[in-house]
Amino acid sequence: KIALSLREVHKSFGEAHIIRGVSLDLSEGERHAFIGPNGAGKSTLFHLISGQFKPSSGEILLGQQPIGGLAAERINRLGLARSFQITNIFPKLSVYENLRLGVMQRFGLQYTLWRPVSGFSRVRELTEQLLEQVRLTRHRDTLGGELSYSEQRSLEIGMTLASDPKVLLLDEPMAGMSREETDYTVDLLRELSAGRTLMIVEHDMDVVFSLCDRISVLVYGQVVATGTPEEVRSNAQVQEAYLGTEVNV
Ligand code: ADP
Ligand code: MG
Ligand code: MG
Repeated sequence: KIALSLREVHKSFGEAHIIRGVSLDLSEGERHAFIGPNGAGKSTLFHLISGQFKPSSGEILLGQQPIGGLAAERINRLGLARSFQITNIFPKLSVYENLRLGVMQRFGLQYTLWRPVSGFSRVRELTEQLLEQVRLTRHRDTLGGELSYSEQRSLEIGMTLASDPKVLLLDEPMAGMSREETDYTVDLLRELSAGRTLMIVEHDMDVVFSLCDRISVLVYGQVVATGTPEEVRSNAQVQEAYLGTEVNV
């Protein structure tokens, strides 16, 4: 079954034609990587899917439901969540409070943030679950801003998962991590993406090869190749357009 479809999606900013006819079907449970040079439009494509930008033309479907141009919160409620290229946690709130905020948003409770929520046992239960899933139980009372860099990314991924999305978009989640932190996060993502469809922008080919079932190569707003990691690696056009060249950091 198809989890997400892009059909001839275009996006222009004024005269600049940034996304130039992207069509792609992602299956349920698929882990799909986007690679490509800096400025290719990877983040823009994610913004279009998650509702930060409206497509200039073309269709985006979440399952059967057209979502192109819907508001981001609406798309989130329909089952799609994303992280951003820059970490997006609340540094002055504890790990537990950060995750609780995510869970409360899921239930439309964002305006009651500063009231006692101890009575909301469902919220508490889900927050505890998330804490464990992202392996931050021992840091429950640590302030977000005091976590290590990779723990901050784990927390951010936890907040992204709070809405229990069917489709999860992660934009360079391993950027700036050491080898060790990257390996840890790959393992965590493999676990957390089980039963979901994952779209990830990632430059580290070791990560892509060990985590993803399929890869799309985006160059100047167009998908120049899609396939398994092996297929893409041996594609001459891809090697010319991307592999072995300077990559986005
Ligand atoms: P990538 O994530 O692949 O590095 P981006 O999607 O961030 O690439 O950017 C692709 C191109 O789109 C860049 O040339 C960037 O300057 C341009 N771009 C992105 N957002 C906007 C915007 N809001 N207005 C105008 N141009 C934009
Ligand atoms: Mg970039
Ligand atoms: Mg980007």
